[in-house]
Amino acid sequence: MGGETKTSGCERCGAGCRTEKPVYGWVCARCARELDVYYLMLVGMKGGDPIQLYLADRAAGAVPPRT
Ligand SMILES: [Zn+2]
Repeated sequence: MGGETKTSGCERCGAGCRTEKPVYGWVCARCARELDVYYLMLVGMKGGDPIQLYLADRAAGAVPPRT
């Protein structure tokens, strides 16, 4: 459990509010929706699990930027 108190913003775009569940890490609802669309599309093409694809991209610094 992170226990962080100072970083409360979205870890993708820095917006102030995050979703209450860290599905794609701690991102805001808007980023979660964008990432959902993007990774579900990737899963449709490549197969696999959207969360695992996201985590691999995040580790590689390859998460698509906010549009
Ligand atoms: Zn965001």
